[in-house]
Amino acid sequence: MISIKNIVKTYTTGDETLVALDNVSLEIMAGEFTAIMGPSGSGKSTLMNILGLLDRFDSGTYILNGQNVSDLNDKESAKIRNKEIGFIFQSFNLMPRMSVLENVELPLVYAGVKSKERKERALKALERVGLSDRVKHKPNEISGGQKQRVAIARAIVNNPSVLMADEPTGNLDSKTTVDIMRIFQELNAEGTTILMITHESEVSLYTKRILTFNDGALVDDQPQKSVYKGA
Ligand code: ADP
Ligand code: ADP
Repeated sequence: MISIKNIVKTYTTGDETLVALDNVSLEIMAGEFTAIMGPSGSGKSTLMNILGLLDRFDSGTYILNGQNVSDLNDKESAKIRNKEIGFIFQSFNLMPRMSVLENVELPLVYAGVKSKERKERALKALERVGLSDRVKHKPNEISGGQKQRVAIARAIVNNPSVLMADEPTGNLDSKTTVDIMRIFQELNAEGTTILMITHESEVSLYTKRILTFNDGALVDDQPQKSVYKGA
């Protein structure tokens, strides 16, 4: 479903050029649940931004669901991104003035889905993450773990083929982290492909595969055999 070959990404600031991704190749199949690990500055976010069609790269090839997406313009990228990819961030990125339900409906507003269907689909997504009793609350009226569940509902409401999460448990305590990882495991068991950046090895135990980056290079790719089911 995701195939990249020889991806190079550099950042130029003034007369300094930094190689953020140094000839990275990898494949991710539908149904995988993959952790991206490595020290700060190793290129994890850069890779996810490229795979999520949020950022371009200098050279290499990216095939997403059989389509070459290496050289799209912004409009084409946005169209594919909205259809194929759901994003989840450490900081939740919810709209503070909107209710939980309205936050989850937002991607469907952009997709031009009519009001009645929007509400039905958003309620279904919220049910899937166990938040049916909080739909009218505002983000500041719910806990961090509940906010992340809203963000997950918002990410899945469009039925994307892949979920991309950048440190999704970075702001959560360990008990809430387990709850969120269980939701990810359930979504994965139902067929959603998940790609997740984490620096916590306990969190990576919930995945099926661990990619490790160092200095912009993929240095290790291991199956996670004893997929943790939680305590
Ligand atoms: P990680 O997510 O593993 O912490 P990043 O992908 O954020 O790593 O960063 C990889 C390298 O690229 C780091 O050295 C970082 O400072 C640099 N970098 C990331 N984004 C930018 C940017 N927009 N401009 C300049 N340098 C950047
Ligand atoms: P993460 O915690 O996911 O690794 P970072 O804190 O490295 O994220 O980066 C957050 C944002 O800042 C990213 O969008 C990245 O592109 C940008 N960034 C990172 N390093 C630099 C840098 N040296 N110069 C400019 N922007 C950067």
